[in-house]
Amino acid sequence: MNLKVIAKISSLVASAVLAMSISISTSHAFVEDICLGEGGQIENFYYDAAIQSIPECGYGKYYPRCVFKVLKRSSDTFGDTSICRGIIHFEAVYFTAQAVGFRGDIAYFIAAFSQAIDFNQYRAIDSCGIDLPFRYWTPPLRGLLRTSTVSGGSIRHLGVPYGNESDTTDALYPQWNAIAEGTLSRSRNWAFGDSDTLCHGGLTNGESKDNPFGGDSCATRGELISDVSKIVSGPIPLSGGVTKLGPQILNYDCEPECWCSNTCPEGSPPLTPKNVLLAEGDNLARYIAKSPFSKLDSGAPVPELIARLGIYMHWLSDRASHANCTNAKRSKLSGPDSDGNYTINLDTLRCNAISHAMSHYWEQGLGDKVTRGSEAALRLYAEELGAFAARYRPQHPQWFREIPPPLSMAYIVGMPANPGVTLRASLEKSATKRIKIIMDALEENNFDPIPGFTTFCNE
Ligand SMILES: [Zn+2]
Ligand SMILES: [Zn+2]
Repeated sequence: MNLKVIAKISSLVASAVLAMSISISTSHAFVEDICLGEGGQIENFYYDAAIQSIPECGYGKYYPRCVFKVLKRSSDTFGDTSICRGIIHFEAVYFTAQAVGFRGDIAYFIAAFSQAIDFNQYRAIDSCGIDLPFRYWTPPLRGLLRTSTVSGGSIRHLGVPYGNESDTTDALYPQWNAIAEGTLSRSRNWAFGDSDTLCHGGLTNGESKDNPFGGDSCATRGELISDVSKIVSGPIPLSGGVTKLGPQILNYDCEPECWCSNTCPEGSPPLTPKNVLLAEGDNLARYIAKSPFSKLDSGAPVPELIARLGIYMHWLSDRASHANCTNAKRSKLSGPDSDGNYTINLDTLRCNAISHAMSHYWEQGLGDKVTRGSEAALRLYAEELGAFAARYRPQHPQWFREIPPPLSMAYIVGMPANPGVTLRASLEKSATKRIKIIMDALEENNFDPIPGFTTFCNE
């Protein structure tokens, strides 16, 4: 970033504060860029701010009118479920999973769980905007919500590495063995079935003081706190309640009402969750089995590992999505201190509200460019889903097609100069055409269509 851009950003903080005052909730990593209205009308999430309506609003540009529109749009709040989804969190995952050999209904639930945790629950709708039966939905996963600071949800969407300034790992190319990558590595272990316990932030009671990720049980002594400047903390829900360390909370009940997440007025009481579902043992499998949600074509409940894999796809891509912020030396999770607390720090310049919101806007739908985070996320999907498939095909052949499709990384993702299916869909300006690119590629390869999207509404 050059000095001119920095100056521009400073001068834009005022408009950021104004936009934030409209709502302090904000989009957090790959946005839900496609919203279905009744009658099948497809709304392009960023249409108002898109190049078509504001010509100066393009990749890498910080024109005030454009920034204002993007910030305003980004601060729109979603409810518990949503009729919006993201081409990167949902469609790209669905296509890629089938492309590396998963059966259609399994691929669908990897995508549904991937999308679910930006809300509380994935709400499935058809191309006319009508609800599909509950079996296509995911159950509520309130603890994983991007705005849930108290349950450790938000740190997983942001993907802050561990250590001090000299510890490195690249959000675009995670180094699985690096201690700095511990939070994501531990969720990878959980998703790949190497561990049945998932801890807040991945933090354990490790033997070694320098590696808080190496233990078998979760750290429970301290809290997860954040120490970030106002420019950053305004829109990013990191504060507003304290995360007690321990096993990751997957869900909790809202009686009489849900905790206020990041909309809590000052001095609100802390969360006292009820019927807490922890990420331990086979709790998630039993939760899915007794719910009306998430049933395969056979009627069987979605296997826990598939749900975990979908959730992990979200964290994997959100980590790449925030590379610009979290690859900064100063953006680190550190600790424990003498009380067992861990602290999140974020680089003020590279994590500020404006760069943050604008980079999410540049992640899809701009025609000729996407961020490096988008490219990385699409590549990581193929690598990680491929690794999972290679490992579990012998043990669970029923999750896969008999013969894996012979599709290359170049075909599935490709490069900006020669994009494959998922990158082409992410570049496309029109939200309808973004879905269409995926629908056509599914058909060409004889893959299952997106449930409810065999055709567009009334076609
Ligand atoms: Zn974000
Ligand atoms: Zn997210």
